[in-house]
Amino acid sequence: MNISEPANFPWYYRSLDMEQIWRDFPPPPDFFSGVFRASRDELRALQDRRFLQTMKRGWEIPFFQRHWSSAGMQPGDIKSLDDLPKIPSYNVEHIRKSIEAHPPFGDFMGIAPGGPNPLPLVLQTSGGTTGLPRPMLYSPHDREIMAILGARRYAMQGMRPGDIVLVAFSLGLSNGGFANREILWKYMGAVPVMTGGGATTPTRRQIEICRAWGINVVLAFPSYLRHLALVARDEMKFDVRDLKVRMVGSHIGIEDRKTIEELWGAPCYDSYGTHENGTLATECKFQNGMHVNDDCFAIEIVDPETDKVQRDGERGCIHITTLFRDSAPLIRFNINDISSYMPDTPACPCGCTFRRLTKIYGRNDNMVKVRGVNVFTEAIGVTAAADNRTNGEFFCMIETVGEARSDELIVMVEVPNLAEHSASVKADLERRLKEVIGIRTEVKPVAPHELNQYTGVAQTSKVKRLLDKRKVT
Ligand SMILES: [Zn+2]
Repeated sequence: MNISEPANFPWYYRSLDMEQIWRDFPPPPDFFSGVFRASRDELRALQDRRFLQTMKRGWEIPFFQRHWSSAGMQPGDIKSLDDLPKIPSYNVEHIRKSIEAHPPFGDFMGIAPGGPNPLPLVLQTSGGTTGLPRPMLYSPHDREIMAILGARRYAMQGMRPGDIVLVAFSLGLSNGGFANREILWKYMGAVPVMTGGGATTPTRRQIEICRAWGINVVLAFPSYLRHLALVARDEMKFDVRDLKVRMVGSHIGIEDRKTIEELWGAPCYDSYGTHENGTLATECKFQNGMHVNDDCFAIEIVDPETDKVQRDGERGCIHITTLFRDSAPLIRFNINDISSYMPDTPACPCGCTFRRLTKIYGRNDNMVKVRGVNVFTEAIGVTAAADNRTNGEFFCMIETVGEARSDELIVMVEVPNLAEHSASVKADLERRLKEVIGIRTEVKPVAPHELNQYTGVAQTSKVKRLLDKRKVT
């Protein structure tokens, strides 16, 4: 490498055409007078144009060449977005195989560090809990647009420039923490306070920071939002409602929004994002479904059994096609999260014309079969959290017991006033869970913090909720 050759030092700001990005993917406030209100026909035309560019890029990338050619596809077969369902989908297993065959980063991104025309790249990963997490390299262009999408989300939810924002997402390989820093700092004019999870900044210190520095927005996963509020209340004799935060932001899925809003005395907004793409869909302040960033994604809901694209209201696996990426595009990536589209009418009162997803119901692969019944651990969590004698923390264990070798589902829940409520919580929750998930469970009430050893809630934002002992032994 020639050290005096400027081209070998790819400066970040020279690698971007910011004016073009701002025109094509407007951040707030321009966003609200532009594509936010575009007609469905205008949006479809825009999607179509960007989709064909994305297909062209896909054919340049070895992973897609191989995947598509082996299904008999030829360049030019796909003529518009209407043809999207004809393209074979792929999933995380295909990505893992690509990485194995072409280490260290696979052949699905179309970019790599170094080379004759280097780009300044940054690497973040999925939040995987076992083994190496999946890496993703971001080009400056893609990274800036992802930050813009995040700023659209927060502006739609009522965040304002000048807000002081506690970001309690993990700081490390997983993308959540750093992505929010870029969003808030570069495109929201808000001030990110990067405390990270409880392992980075102890929870008590996070509460002290909220009080001392005038934090008025808190971003964290639902379990940590509850944990923060309860540590403040039970250990520090401080009610976080006194912080008078404007909003709390999260990925709620089917967790219990009401408990979090009551604890914080502020609205809690849902959104949906992935480490590859940032914010795909977000609630606005009306909490009325999650608006998909339709100018940047084509999202399909696909029946996992039949591969048929579902109609509005029908649940299925989210398939992502990106319309903004120049590197590592996703084209019918089955991310395995379950959702459904809301009908377009009645329109959302916010005026946004983007289509809405109802919510994320869980992961297709977080579903476990117990005595022949499909159980989502998320559904157990919602049921436990709805009982206000618990603090919302729960952990499920499945094991095979007795001579009959029967599978038992044990649900442990934290109950702050254990001596008084243990027996009644056990009886009530066992009955309620039978109604909700359809099978008998054994509920074990335990004292607060006892589940930390299983869930990791005090240390990490990627909380574990299930141990399937049938697979371990
Ligand atoms: Zn809306």
